[in-house]
Amino acid sequence: MSARSATPGNTPLSIRSERVLVLACSLVVIAILSIVTFLLIREHAAAQQAATRAATNIVQLIDADVLRNVELYDLSLQGLVAAAKRDDLKDVSPAIRHLALFDRATAAPYKGDILLLDKRGDVIADSASIEPRKGNYADREYFQSHVQDPSPGMMISRPFRSRSHAQDWRISFSYRLSDERGEFMGVAEAAMRLNYFNQLFKSLNIGHGGTVNLVSSKGILLAQEPPLADDLIGKDFSNRPNFVRILREGNGSFTSVSGQDQKTRLYTFSQVGNLPLIVVVALSTQEVFASWLRTALLVSGATGALCIGLLWVTWLLRRELRRRHNAERELAQLASTDALTGLANRRTLDETLQQEWLRAQRSGQPLSVLMIDADHFKAFNDRHGHQQGDEALRTLAQLIGQHVRRPADLAARYGGEEFSVVLPETTTAGAFTMAQNIRDAVEQLPPVTEGGASMTVSIGIATWLNGPYGELPQLLFAADKALYQAKASGRNRVVCAM
Ligand code: GH3
Ligand code: MG
Ligand code: MG
Repeated sequence: MSARSATPGNTPLSIRSERVLVLACSLVVIAILSIVTFLLIREHAAAQQAATRAATNIVQLIDADVLRNVELYDLSLQGLVAAAKRDDLKDVSPAIRHLALFDRATAAPYKGDILLLDKRGDVIADSASIEPRKGNYADREYFQSHVQDPSPGMMISRPFRSRSHAQDWRISFSYRLSDERGEFMGVAEAAMRLNYFNQLFKSLNIGHGGTVNLVSSKGILLAQEPPLADDLIGKDFSNRPNFVRILREGNGSFTSVSGQDQKTRLYTFSQVGNLPLIVVVALSTQEVFASWLRTALLVSGATGALCIGLLWVTWLLRRELRRRHNAERELAQLASTDALTGLANRRTLDETLQQEWLRAQRSGQPLSVLMIDADHFKAFNDRHGHQQGDEALRTLAQLIGQHVRRPADLAARYGGEEFSVVLPETTTAGAFTMAQNIRDAVEQLPPVTEGGASMTVSIGIATWLNGPYGELPQLLFAADKALYQAKASGRNRVVCAM
């Protein structure tokens, strides 16, 4: 049977609406997911920003506290330098002299001792006792610096371990003493115990899993609160990736995995005043993003459920559309085919003929029509019964269908025991060959009863282009006339209209 498929651009409405539905649903789902993702990313950034701001505030708080203390050291030392230059203090009692020298040495918290050294580095005055301790500090780095550098400003040393308490990290502030000609006369020195930071850090609330750290500019960990492990103080961290970055940048903020406990932290850090110290506030990202994570899980869950619901409804709708589309197609098929033989019916034949007639008029190509009629079929029915007659018509239809192979060709049941074949762009010669083949094949069919006569057909052919047919009915009439001639001249033959 010939298949006249739907031409492209002629997609059925149901398929198109199905595509529109799927596309629209996909777009809505993509839009929802994009919006939610965008909002969550923005919220995440906001949480990070808030945490960084809080950490920066803590760093600044520490900075301010330290600077205030450094100022106190500065005052004490300047007072000591001024008093040391006075000649009138040589004659007073050691107690009075001690009072005068350390007059401005206000009690800074966690302050180390203040010492006055002579030009050989020996202690000549000590804030801790009226009788100065025995000791020489000429080997100290700050002492050597003051010997070589005559500038009068305060010098800040690198962190060092105290001589007396091995665990005690200190940093020293010092001034050079010079005579009128600028000759080196000695050093006034004060030490700050870095334990002071532990007390300061303890008072800060940095949330669960976070730490506040003090690092020297050389990468030595000087204080940590709360301590992540024992024995970390005094260790060199300068080659750890996070510290490499902190030491290089001095001020800033970044998120990274801690080398100490493998937890992800938000590091915010800043140099303390102009001291060789860096404060590092490391907040636990788990804590920082805990609230965000709860929101994200809730929103993602709700969005996921919404999208799944949407996709499900779309799927149901699509299934319904498809079902309807199939029903439509079946209905169309039913309306266009002949129930008994499965060939195209009369209605399809009429439509096709009309179409091909117009096409042939436009293109100037030939159009042939075959009229096929079973011979003596009334007698066949009478002899074998109507059921056998129907079966024979089906066989005949199948055979005709097998001969019609080109997509544009159409085989149809005209009515009763008559069939029609439409052959666009086919000349009379081509149509004649096909008709002969069909006639031959019918004749070759085995007879219904053994020894009985076989079925035959008569075929009439008319071709537009060869005859004077101004209208389609004239062409069909000519084919009919040819068929009549075939019948009249003995049946089982093919006649072409002239
Ligand atoms: P001719 O060779 O001149 O065509 O003789 P004929 O008997 O075939 O022609 P006629 O038009 O006199 O008879 C057609 C017969 O075809 C009538 C009817 O019994 C039979 N027929 C038509 N439609 C059907 C059908 O659907 N099924 C069956 N079994 N027979 C049918
Ligand atoms: Mg007939
Ligand atoms: Mg007949």
